[in-house]
Amino acid sequence: MKVFMCASEIVPFAKTGGLADVAGALPLVLEKHGVEVRLAMPRYKIAAGHRSEVLGFSSDIDLAALGKNIQVYLIKNDKYFDRDGLYGDKAGDYTDNLERFSFYCRRSLDLLKEINFKPDILHCHDWQTALIPVYLKTLYQKDDFYKDIKTLLTIHNLSFQGVFNKDEFPKLGLDRQLFNIDGLEFYHKVNILKGGVIFSDLLNTVSPTYAGEIKTQESGCGLEGVLHKRKKDLSGILNGLDYELWDPQKDTYIYKPYSASTSIDKYVNKKMLQEECRLSVQEDIPLFGMVSRLSHQKGLDLIAQSMEDLLRHCKMQIIVLGVGDAKYHNLLFELAQKYPANLSAQIKFDEALAHKIYAGADIFLMPSRFEPCGLGQMIALRYGTPPLVFKTGGLADTVSKENGFVFKKYTKEAFVKTVESAIAAYRSKRKWMELVKKAFSYNFSWKKSAGEYIKLYQKLLN
Ligand code: ADP
Repeated sequence: MKVFMCASEIVPFAKTGGLADVAGALPLVLEKHGVEVRLAMPRYKIAAGHRSEVLGFSSDIDLAALGKNIQVYLIKNDKYFDRDGLYGDKAGDYTDNLERFSFYCRRSLDLLKEINFKPDILHCHDWQTALIPVYLKTLYQKDDFYKDIKTLLTIHNLSFQGVFNKDEFPKLGLDRQLFNIDGLEFYHKVNILKGGVIFSDLLNTVSPTYAGEIKTQESGCGLEGVLHKRKKDLSGILNGLDYELWDPQKDTYIYKPYSASTSIDKYVNKKMLQEECRLSVQEDIPLFGMVSRLSHQKGLDLIAQSMEDLLRHCKMQIIVLGVGDAKYHNLLFELAQKYPANLSAQIKFDEALAHKIYAGADIFLMPSRFEPCGLGQMIALRYGTPPLVFKTGGLADTVSKENGFVFKKYTKEAFVKTVESAIAAYRSKRKWMELVKKAFSYNFSWKKSAGEYIKLYQKLLN
């Protein structure tokens, strides 16, 4: 089986969130299952955490490798991609994102013919690649080379849809007829993801619970109707985690490697992390860690409403690593100034520090308002760090009171109560160690989920 996978970010080449983790890890397991996979993504200026050698291939394509023999085509276009950000900068999203990603989609399709790689399946991820199924069924329909290729669109986060002013529609090169309610039109604007939802052969999202949620008005972000129409073709597959990359026993970023059987060394990591983040070094104080985009989605409103009270009344510490909305940067800076011994605001994207937090924190905080899958909680469990989450999407599918702390109503009161119960639980050393042991015992590697993707691919081919 041949699969061509398109994603706008892929570990280790570029990453802003979980999409990159998935697009970097899934191909590796597919390869182990005998699937022939190749990838294409834009060649950005930054190549965060880039550890792979890049070779020239043609004037506008670089070639890199992943796994044993996975070719990764990096599509160059300096006008569009030679920038510091992937999707935007401090001023917001880049204003030419429609052009940038429609170019990437068309270039990826043309590339297939140039390299004579005819995949059985084109696996697209999120709105940045959602034009691929649209183009395939319209502009490329008459070309024999493309006619048997099937498409799968994976939705990693429905709240990002690629919505643009209708004046931009002609730039897509599509028939004007497609700008209507049964096509890419969405309240007088162009909606790229909607196009992908309509034109893909199959759809999936990244957890079973989220697959149900997005068909409802509450969580469908305006696309619930279109998704409901395609409900037979829409499934949910929980993301896996790359257990090679995220392994407390082999992790070279953390202060001291450890495993379930040497979990006492987790506390060496805690102490060093407290030192690095300039918190007071105390073992008996529970240390909460958060590694997240600082946005409304990730529950930052709950942090804003309750953190000061919690810091005043409870014996706790917290380190927050993230970038996002300026209002949350300011809030965290202010709190860190007021409570320097107990709150550390790390406003940046820092892969190494992220690993240290997963390892050194006692409790991983992830109170997302909605969460398609979430990798943070899975990484935390892998590092023996029980997560504290809101019961939604992928968090509901992975965290329970067996391995962490869950609140069921998205309110300040429920959140505070759950933080307090986690702090109370931490006081009983013996019980706490049992919880840590339990956290270690979960396995969210790709093993099971890769099998489900292969089944989905087979369904496409039949
Ligand atoms: P998202 O919705 O952002 O994709 P996920 O939980 O699925 O959320 O994945 C987030 C990924 O990005 C995780 O690997 C997490 O460790 C990483 N991450 C998020 N923010 C930062 C940061 N500031 N520095 C380093 N890594 C980060």
